[in-house]
Amino acid sequence: MPGPIDARGTEDPHPFPGALAGRRAVVMGLGRFGGGEAVARHLRRRGADVLVTDLRPAEELERSIAGLTEAGVTFRLGEHEMEDFTAADLVVVNPAVPHPWDNPFLLEARAGGARLLTEIRLAIGDHPAERVIGITGSAGKSTTAAMVQHALLRIRPDLRSRLGGNIGGSLLDDPPGDDSTLVLELSSFMLHWIAGDAGEPEDRFTPGVALVTNIAPNHLDWHRSLEHYAASKQAILTGSPACPAPRPVDASRCTWRADVLSELELAVPGSHNRDNAIDAIATIIEHLTLVDGEMADPRATASACAAALRDFPGLPHRLEFVGEHRGIRFFNDSKSTTPGATGLAVESMPSTRRTHLIAGGYDKGSDLEPVARLARDLAGLYGIGATEAAICEHGGEACGTLAKAFERAVASAGEGDVVLLSPGCASWDQFTDFEVRGRTFRELVERLD
Ligand code: ADP
Repeated sequence: MPGPIDARGTEDPHPFPGALAGRRAVVMGLGRFGGGEAVARHLRRRGADVLVTDLRPAEELERSIAGLTEAGVTFRLGEHEMEDFTAADLVVVNPAVPHPWDNPFLLEARAGGARLLTEIRLAIGDHPAERVIGITGSAGKSTTAAMVQHALLRIRPDLRSRLGGNIGGSLLDDPPGDDSTLVLELSSFMLHWIAGDAGEPEDRFTPGVALVTNIAPNHLDWHRSLEHYAASKQAILTGSPACPAPRPVDASRCTWRADVLSELELAVPGSHNRDNAIDAIATIIEHLTLVDGEMADPRATASACAAALRDFPGLPHRLEFVGEHRGIRFFNDSKSTTPGATGLAVESMPSTRRTHLIAGGYDKGSDLEPVARLARDLAGLYGIGATEAAICEHGGEACGTLAKAFERAVASAGEGDVVLLSPGCASWDQFTDFEVRGRTFRELVERLD
């Protein structure tokens, strides 16, 4: 497929990141969401010689391996081998690889002249920055990004907006056209790579419009410090070769805010979702102003967006209502992986004193005291996973597993109560990911007789 026409009017057959035919590419980390697989396929399509290396053994990766082997990809599994990295021209790093700045394989690869990229950087490719909306923050990224896309599709179908980044599958298998709007949910890990100093300066990318929803301590095990975490998020607002000055979104300064808040009716619960909706609308207005020029009536556009958001269904695992049994209602908020998100989920319930909260999981270094203290006001607090002792510090009941906590919560809940899974911690100590954890909770609800 021919590439874009360059400034000299000649056709460049090799859009970002340049010619790949015959280059040695290493995909570090297959990932759990299909990102690594999509990268390997993409690089093979572009003619690269592709090796996938992952610390997990072949047995755990069986399904991914079969398809990729057919495409001519080779593997180094159960370990990383230095010589693969020193011989590489290109390394595509899974953003989950922690503190990459002192990873010896990456250091050696770079010293040997390899270019280091990520799946999302490849997926953005040469997409014009003004057609990219970047959304980051500690909480609310996915919901706000999905709201932006939902409302944009409704009010401006001509922009054919696509959702990508940390949500949905990889865009590499079905690349959007240059004239479509990319709405990207960007994690701090991804931003460290694409907007921070992890890769080469000329590969940095920042979007035309950038929203930082909020910043609270998170992922400190990966970043090692709050400063590094916050700096990685804030990097989205800095200039890059693709975009000299991203437009920051600040909904608090929008003149239409109070009016639109009063007319906003959402199906998704919680005041934080109202904040997300206002952020989403402000982001859309900023984007349309960038793409179309100054907007005559932002208030009217904000109203149109608010109307479009009325039937936004919400995302699975975010305060998702999963059923009712004997008058007890069950909510799945498995996506909550920070104490702040859990606090908000509890506040979003009709009554704290009638809420039975299941919390705890993988220990990523967050201060869990705010969740533990909720025990005093809740109907019940049931701790699970690696952090259960910290969760139960002020009177919660340590239950070990989700199944046990669920059983205990159902046994003590009465009609009109709510059982809420909102862990405030990542899932990786007991589950593959937060989706498996949420589905497990849903199955427990469905099995009630
Ligand atoms: P992210 O993609 O940033 O993790 P999500 O939209 O998936 O955010 O929501 C994750 C969790 O954060 C949910 O449990 C939700 O209750 C909570 N949350 C959502 N929006 C906000 C917000 N604006 N402020 C604080 N917490 C929020």
